[in-house]
Amino acid sequence: MSQTHNQRPRHVVAVIGAATAGSEIARILAEHGDVVVVFEQNPRPYGKIEDGLPRWHVKQRKDEYEEINRRLDRPEIHYVPLTRLGADLDFEQLRSQWGLSAIVLAHGAWRDRPFPVEAAEAYLGKGLIYQNPLIYWFNHYRERGYNGPQFDLAPGGIVIGGGLASFDVVKVLQIECTLAALRRRGIEESMLALEREGLDPVLKRYDLTWQALDIAPCRLFYRRRVIDMPLSDIPADAPPKRADSLRQARVKILEKAQRKYLFDFADQHLPTGLLIEQDRLVGLEISRTQVVEGKARLLPDTAAPVRGPFVISSIGSIPEPIAGIPHRGEVYEYLDMQTGLLLDGATPVFAAGNVLTGKGNIKDSLDNATEVGTLVAERYLGVADDGTSFSLGENVRQEVRATGEALAGAVSNRPRLAAEKVAEILERVRERQRQVGYEGNYRAWLARVTPPDLE
Ligand SMILES: Cc1cc2nc3c(=O)[nH]c(=O)nc-3n(C[C@H](O)[C@H](O)[C@H](O)COP(=O)(O)OP(=O)(O)OC[C@H]3O[C@@H](n4cnc5c(N)ncnc54)[C@H](O)[C@@H]3O)c2cc1C
Repeated sequence: MSQTHNQRPRHVVAVIGAATAGSEIARILAEHGDVVVVFEQNPRPYGKIEDGLPRWHVKQRKDEYEEINRRLDRPEIHYVPLTRLGADLDFEQLRSQWGLSAIVLAHGAWRDRPFPVEAAEAYLGKGLIYQNPLIYWFNHYRERGYNGPQFDLAPGGIVIGGGLASFDVVKVLQIECTLAALRRRGIEESMLALEREGLDPVLKRYDLTWQALDIAPCRLFYRRRVIDMPLSDIPADAPPKRADSLRQARVKILEKAQRKYLFDFADQHLPTGLLIEQDRLVGLEISRTQVVEGKARLLPDTAAPVRGPFVISSIGSIPEPIAGIPHRGEVYEYLDMQTGLLLDGATPVFAAGNVLTGKGNIKDSLDNATEVGTLVAERYLGVADDGTSFSLGENVRQEVRATGEALAGAVSNRPRLAAEKVAEILERVRERQRQVGYEGNYRAWLARVTPPDLE
């Protein structure tokens, strides 16, 4: 007797996180004939694209939203919003009681690496700010219904970092402080104009200069040398001359960014102490370093106080620890990096995307020509000479696709679940969807949960 579509034994895979990586993995699995359940902690599925990529990337964000929608909006994929693994959904239960064919973790890297000065975390909200909540605020604070963290960005902030994301932070500070200074003069300017044209050209329109605004620029401190900044990748096997010219390109990127956004910068500086007044962080003790064999070595007796209205830590994002998932230090511990296999067993657990790379942003695709790495960084930062803008392109998806195909292959070798088992799992899914008010129509849900003034 032939089996109808619904009676066919299938694999059922749960994907945690619905953004760039999760939606691509879900698409690949669905195309292999699997049933896919995508659990997402937020109402909308866009992850870093909505909450981590500053909102001046207008077109890239819009395009990527639609890419993600296209991938998730298909009948084999069951979207379960407002469901956070580790809070609304227990990992051990999902793994041992649901009877799934596999679980794929694609929940990104959302935890800021802890600020490396002892006792600093006690000053979170009292002078210490982490990059992830700051960019989330920047992307959403203009929405009428916004009720997340609030930040009052006075001029002269201290930023600790050195990678692309820390440049985002200094841009946010410089742009916000300039907008506020203009507003005090009765001028309403647009954030996008300042980001695209740079501060000086916009100020010129009002016969103003940065000096005339009389506000302190923010200051970015980096522990190694400019040539070491992780703005673009340099392949380990690059010939010395090539590696050298790629390092010099980093100096150019910094110069261009400083010219356009007018922030201060100091390399070979490392925070070594806190300045505390009335239970508030009012600055840092910062020491000098020397780079020896690629590592920043602290130079003793060089600590000097640096005061500022707040300190922003932008030293990297790491995956959140989840009870039951083995990890070594900041990253999860893998059984097989190729497929992203974390745990084997009846329901194997894989990882993909930023969770797998352990990074909060995306490095250049490994086979890209390295010159492209520099151009990608310049475009991302809005300082490319040809004025071209950043394109999210295919590089994340390419990486994710390779992992996705490998893990879809691994899943396909496992026994399929009987139709009754599939139905049982889908009943659990529908139960959760009912609890969160999701009625099964992906586009209708998005229309309901998207604020009318979301940028
Ligand atoms: C500085 C910077 C540079 C970047 N450069 C590039 C680039 O060069 N190229 C490029 O393509 N992209 C770039 N990006 C964009 C971005 O980081 C990646 O493209 C991509 O968004 C990573 O996708 P992801 O799906 O792995 O992670 P995320 O986008 O972080 O998605 C994870 C999803 O999981 C959800 N989630 C988290 N925890 C849980 C949980 N416990 N339970 C349920 N759901 C959960 C989150 O809400 C989110 O929706 C950059 C971003 C930044 C900030």
